[in-house]
Amino acid sequence: MTATVLELIGVERRYRQGERELIILEQAEFSLEPGEIVALVAPSGAGKSTLLHTAGLLEKPDSGDVIVAGKPCGRLSDDERTAIRRNEIGFVYQFHHLLPEFSALENIMMPQLVRGLSQAEARDRAAQLLDYMKIGPRADHRPAELSGGEQQRVAIARAVANAPLVLLADEPTGNLDPRTAGYVFEALEALVRQSGLSALIATHNHELAQRMDRRVTLEQGKVVEV
Ligand code: ADP
Repeated sequence: MTATVLELIGVERRYRQGERELIILEQAEFSLEPGEIVALVAPSGAGKSTLLHTAGLLEKPDSGDVIVAGKPCGRLSDDERTAIRRNEIGFVYQFHHLLPEFSALENIMMPQLVRGLSQAEARDRAAQLLDYMKIGPRADHRPAELSGGEQQRVAIARAVANAPLVLLADEPTGNLDPRTAGYVFEALEALVRQSGLSALIATHNHELAQRMDRRVTLEQGKVVEV
């Protein structure tokens, strides 16, 4: 078994647009090592979301393969891909996508309950994560009662609730003012480091990108180091 947690091998992703075919990923290669935090920095429309969705098994590559924890996922059934996604991959988006009618604590409990943990186990872990993200006192608040930075902290805690191997984040601080973005990234980084996760984080924020272990971009459908 390889030590690499996530690997893209010769990944192709195309979209049909009327008569034309848009090639977004072309023979894209990428690998993420254990414990690494990598920034994905590229202009809008370059294919960052496509790359993250493909790496996170939300979209299937047209050809090539995505390997998660040494397991090639290209030929797996949708159910098998869903199981790997649920267990090994956490997602954070630019907008928090928290469930509005549930509290912060309940939002973090939810994926754990789906995975089969007991209410008590899920509650304990959710409370721990909220404390770790320094928003323990906000546990019973609904998303609308939280600031943007707090909402993203909850979304990050929810993404790691099932102790995944990989965190994939699509502009997780893109909707925050620079100072709040810095704090939220700090919390995210501490959590990733503390739990031994690996992370691939798309960002437009060059200052945050500089704080990550390495930086990649997309050029003509390929992932290249910057
Ligand atoms: P980024 O995240 O870097 O802004 P995306 O991965 O969202 O880039 O999109 C890359 C390109 O692919 C864009 O030109 C976008 O319009 C196109 N695209 C994305 N998703 C689809 C889709 N489902 N169908 C057609 N084109 C798409």
